[in-house]
Amino acid sequence: MKYDYDLFVIGGGSGGVRASRMAAMTGARVALAEESRMGGTCVIRGCIPKKLLVYASQFSENFLDAPGFGWSIGETKFDWPTLIANKDREIARLEALYTKNVRAAGVEIIADRAIFEDPHTMRLVNANRTVTAEKILIATGNRPTREMGTSHVIPGGELCITSNEAFHLSQMPGRILIAGGGYIALEFAHIFHGLGAHVSLVYRGEKPLRGFDDDMRTALCDSMRDRGIEVLLGCEFTKVEKRGSRLHAETNKGASIECDQILLAIGRQPNTDALHVEKAGVELGKKGEVKVDAYSRSTAPHIWAIGDVTDRLQLTPVAIHEAMCFVESVFKNNPTAPDHLHVPSAVFTTPEVAAVGLSEEKALLKGHSVDVYKSHFRPLLHTLGGRNVRTLMKMIVDSKSGKVLGCHIFGDHAAEIIQVAAVALRMGATKKDFDTTIALHPTAAEELVTMRTKSYSKP
Ligand code: NDP
Repeated sequence: MKYDYDLFVIGGGSGGVRASRMAAMTGARVALAEESRMGGTCVIRGCIPKKLLVYASQFSENFLDAPGFGWSIGETKFDWPTLIANKDREIARLEALYTKNVRAAGVEIIADRAIFEDPHTMRLVNANRTVTAEKILIATGNRPTREMGTSHVIPGGELCITSNEAFHLSQMPGRILIAGGGYIALEFAHIFHGLGAHVSLVYRGEKPLRGFDDDMRTALCDSMRDRGIEVLLGCEFTKVEKRGSRLHAETNKGASIECDQILLAIGRQPNTDALHVEKAGVELGKKGEVKVDAYSRSTAPHIWAIGDVTDRLQLTPVAIHEAMCFVESVFKNNPTAPDHLHVPSAVFTTPEVAAVGLSEEKALLKGHSVDVYKSHFRPLLHTLGGRNVRTLMKMIVDSKSGKVLGCHIFGDHAAEIIQVAAVALRMGATKKDFDTTIALHPTAAEELVTMRTKSYSKP
């Protein structure tokens, strides 16, 4: 045979694992190289450990609510090393499961770093040998960036941690500063706050969560402040120093803040450096992402790329969808382009922000005239719980067709609700479809089918 493998997959994350398994199940000879741990960002240092930490962080609020329901709670104590050890055990279990499933599908797992030697040859760096493949799939993902941009190279930036290290701190920081206003910054701000740390979010813009519906951004920002998370807007670090065992950060606003840790959550960069893709004719974009066409094919006709390394939508289910489309197109002779429309997403703050479809601002930018429905209410739990927590739901409807263009929730279980709303939006549901659906009572989700009164129309 001309090549050692029919398919060589670089990267054992969500995309690489799914693509290798599905391709091997068609009878292809498949190898997968992973230099770190099987499971990638999602399983090892992303979604899964993050959600476990989110659950841990929410106990403190449940304890606060308990007396309203008749419970007396004695002294509560949180132990960070216990949480981290238990989390690590679960991650190790999932990693083993991933490895087992990949092997069971007939994929050869190569625990090594693979780099391009020529268009069909990969060098395995540690083993110092080469292998050849007819087709290659780049699924190397991305990693947190530490670069704050050429105009923002801050002295002492190397003293800061990223989300990767946050999962393995030997002790809980008493005081933490978090730079950024995206998914990771906001999720960790709520995690550390819920676990008892003093948290300051340091964000360069006017309001966190750029790209989300403006009402959701306002609701989240207000809620963070109500909870006691300090939100510093229009703010950036200018210098970080170590003084004894503590860090000192200076900001462009003239503040000097002492803390135990500084977490940079200012975006992620594709893992393509030192991969030598140029030796295979694969072109990269400005951020180092692999440029791909609608079918995830790179500029080299026998090389594809999926997932975060392509910088399309950085979400696990999207990488898995792209993997399935790749196998369908390349190994099942059924050209299938990934569909990135109506992808739901959630930020696992407390409470959560979740959305599917267009924000009010994007709908207007796209030329729609919109009817907007909003519901702002106190969830039943908090009537006895006593805390001032409110849920906001918002629906953006096209005034002409009645189609629901976007659905946005800031509230408990928002992610669970939006997952199902996404099915309705994909099916082209109209506001009338929502209105004629009978409510399920008493839930928060029922608000989505009982929002009878239009809040306003635009333009
Ligand atoms: P995001 O792109 O979501 O946010 C980056 C943040 O950093 C933005 O607020 C941005 O500000 C700010 N920023 C960028 N550059 C600088 C700089 N030079 N100085 C200061 N601030 C800066 O990135 P994340 O790292 O939070 O997450 C990466 C991706 O991972 C997300 O986009 C998401 O797709 C995915 N993810 C999904 C999760 C989920 O589904 N729950 C959880 C975690 C990650 P500005 O807005 O001004 O550009």
